[in-house]
Amino acid sequence: MSDTAAPADCIFCRIVAGDLPADIVDRSDLAVAFRDLNPQAPVHVLVIPRRHIDNAATVERDDAEVIADMVVTARRVAQDQGIAERGYRLVFNVGDDATNTVPHLHLHVLGGRAMTWPPG
Ligand code: AMP
Ligand code: ZN
Repeated sequence: MSDTAAPADCIFCRIVAGDLPADIVDRSDLAVAFRDLNPQAPVHVLVIPRRHIDNAATVERDDAEVIADMVVTARRVAQDQGIAERGYRLVFNVGDDATNTVPHLHLHVLGGRAMTWPPG
């Protein structure tokens, strides 16, 4: 299991703890979903594990339950936000080339407009 200690100032751990405000749209036992502060699509929600995990590259096989919970939460968000039928994109950014800025695992749920491929 990924067991990296959370940095003391991790902003997403602070959102999970309720110490930092966020526009929360969904919660499960293992995950929290809230709107991105700088949305890149009409619907842009971040799904994060309640337990700190650095990023997708530090996920271990026995983190399977929390990763599945994040994907199921993303599906519920897509349904609730009205983007499930037309489609949406799920993104994990890892590292500098992918512009990963927040070091707490998060699954981007993007939808409400047509996407291009390849991504920029
Ligand atoms: P990434 O580039 O994958 O690390 O994405 C981090 C995302 O977190 C960006 O899309 C930011 O806009 C978003 N973000 C950063 N701080 C907050 C916050 N306090 N509340 C909501 N979204 C945030
Ligand atoms: Zn954290």
